[in-house]
Amino acid sequence: MNRMNPYRRLTRAAMLVCALATGIPAANAADGNAVAKQLFGHAKLPAAIASEPHGFYSKGCIAGAVAIPVDGPTWQAMRLSRNRRWGHPDMIALVERLSREVAQYDGWPGLLIGDISQPRGGPMLSGHASHQMGLDADIWLNPMPSRKLSYREREDTSAVSMLKNDTLYVDPDRWTDAHARLIVRAASYPEVERIFVHPGIKKKLCDTWKGDRSSFGKIRPYWGHHYHFHIRINCPKGATDCRSQAPSPSGTGCDKSLAWWFTDEPWKPAKPAKPGDKPKKKREMRLSELPAACARIIDAPSVSSEAAATFQPGMAVARASAYSVLPANDVPIPTPRPVN
Ligand SMILES: [Zn+2]
Repeated sequence: MNRMNPYRRLTRAAMLVCALATGIPAANAADGNAVAKQLFGHAKLPAAIASEPHGFYSKGCIAGAVAIPVDGPTWQAMRLSRNRRWGHPDMIALVERLSREVAQYDGWPGLLIGDISQPRGGPMLSGHASHQMGLDADIWLNPMPSRKLSYREREDTSAVSMLKNDTLYVDPDRWTDAHARLIVRAASYPEVERIFVHPGIKKKLCDTWKGDRSSFGKIRPYWGHHYHFHIRINCPKGATDCRSQAPSPSGTGCDKSLAWWFTDEPWKPAKPAKPGDKPKKKREMRLSELPAACARIIDAPSVSSEAAATFQPGMAVARASAYSVLPANDVPIPTPRPVN
């Protein structure tokens, strides 16, 4: 008799799902030596496991991520081809809330959403050291236009730098009070752990903000971040395999720690190599270097794309709300789900 044992049949089915989902043979997936960004960078859908982040912002992964829909009443997701609209449900809920509140209270028409995370988090094939657990999100500093951008426009539109030419200072012709309100509101939410902005933006806030500064300490100056700002949230409650970052120093940060950014020190080019030094080759992170759960996550079956249903923050097993929206070109944009 040539009957396959049911367990094996199940495993094969799971492997097939996995292979389809990740675009790589399942056999490679469990290989601890595999280059982690290759595995995670090709995963098309999240693991069908309850949402949980594992590891650290710059070395981790996420199970059960959910996608922010391409369009909402007060947001539009950008660069759809990257497939980085996935995050922990708390992160997605926070981005949606911020988008609603800035539109309602701050004179900011809505958010253009940059990278959040890959469907299973993890290291990326390009860009970002962090964004690995679905707890980081980039928000552009251009206001959302009133019309719906096409798929192409979302690929090609450039984000706008807030800096004046090549200086470290904000361009007063681009910067508005609404930018300031947007960033300060994002920092004000208790679940937000840090906001990264260019030092010039932090300085502008320090120099001009008239309101409450109790969240200013969370707004951290950092390289880059003049085309977008970066929201990082805390490890969600009960996420025991998620490692928190050391809290920001107390105080507003409008002090000598900020002044340091306006010296030469942070902008010096890296030390030139001595003649005869071999160029250092960057070591690629292997799967085995990530938390153990990440190997299970990369191996796990995907949520089905049919399950692309409404996601409500707090759902135990979150669904992909918008997988069908990885259009090859300018096509069906799914209806935004109701505001929750
Ligand atoms: Zn970022």
